[in-house]
Amino acid sequence: MSETRSDLFKSLSKKGIVRREALLEGLKDRGILEDDPRVRAMFKALNGGSSQEFTEAQFQILYDQAPGLLEGALTDGLVVPDFKSFVSELTDIFDEVSAIRMGKLPTYIPQLERVDPEKFAVSVCTVDGQRFSLGDCDDYFCVQSCSKPITYCLALEEQGEDVVHSYVGREPSGKTFNELTLNAKGLPHNPMINAGAIMCGALIKKGGAPSDRFDFVMEKWKTAAGGQKIGFNNAVYLSERQTADRNFALGYFMREKKAFPPDVELLDVLEFYFQCCSIETTTKSMTIIASTLANAGICPLTGVQVFQPGHVKNCLSLMLSCGMYDFSGEFAFTVGIPAKSGVSGGIMLAIPNLGGIAVWSPLLDELGNSVRGVEFCKRLVSRFKLHTFDNMLGLGDTRIDPRRKR
Ligand code: GLN
Repeated sequence: MSETRSDLFKSLSKKGIVRREALLEGLKDRGILEDDPRVRAMFKALNGGSSQEFTEAQFQILYDQAPGLLEGALTDGLVVPDFKSFVSELTDIFDEVSAIRMGKLPTYIPQLERVDPEKFAVSVCTVDGQRFSLGDCDDYFCVQSCSKPITYCLALEEQGEDVVHSYVGREPSGKTFNELTLNAKGLPHNPMINAGAIMCGALIKKGGAPSDRFDFVMEKWKTAAGGQKIGFNNAVYLSERQTADRNFALGYFMREKKAFPPDVELLDVLEFYFQCCSIETTTKSMTIIASTLANAGICPLTGVQVFQPGHVKNCLSLMLSCGMYDFSGEFAFTVGIPAKSGVSGGIMLAIPNLGGIAVWSPLLDELGNSVRGVEFCKRLVSRFKLHTFDNMLGLGDTRIDPRRKR
């Protein structure tokens, strides 16, 4: 047995036995949860997963199943070593922000207006798969525009950067997300607004049956979420479709400008866009997707490479410059974390090489961003060095850096 392994065993064992409960407790303190596929696989390696106690030899088998996980977690070697303090600070911010009751529910899709305005959830998943959630984190909400980064990544995976960007720009539009406008080349300004997301959708599995395209996208969402369940809200979809005059107008405008690739069925493309907006998730799942982005496209819980690192880099760049509607510049300046917001009140944030955060609270400000969501992000960076350029500040900056010291 290696030294660390045997030290770990000694530190956890009583009378030569490590209890499963004690091991799970130790992992949980570091954010590694019992439903983590790595933890499940680890236990499964012994007697199908039913053992409650482990001898030193059995512990060795567990240890070898999840290379790095036990050692990383139990020697404080994960990306956020003091996970408990991190959680406690985030809980403080969550409690402060819970008191805010400003904002309005969106009215343009009846289904969104019927959501309980009090809902509030925050979930975190680091690039080492350390997770933690607060509030209504098991409630499903439709992702709306938070689908746009994923649609963009999928278009990049299939077509590559050059092709995708011959159909869509990468410049903030300076206009609202559904403005009837295209850039000087007659193309959508960027993939984070409606026109650009409709265009990216047109580049995914072009010519395939609509059912297969949607299956494909759902499967990718699930894979990016480490296998968690991803839902679809049919009522939102129908409602979305019924109130879609602007999106139809955008579609026809792009067709008039010959912006689409050849042989695109406009109605199919629009339907696909409405379906993507109607995908449902919880903050618990959305944070895993965000952490996949933060982890250069590899899902931290499964190790599956969902997106190529270069594509994720492109996506995060555009989330930073265009992800928060007409607040994008302000958000990049003050918060400085790549993020994408949706009209259902979700915000998905990806902090490169640290982790993902998902926030959901349905009341929106006049720009369409979740009021509590934006406030949560502002308070987050007032306590933590998480702005993309915080590493410029040096020792004079007394805020907390949750990352492992190297
Ligand atoms: N379904 C919405 C629309 O197309 C999505 C927009 C959003 O979240 N901003 O209008």
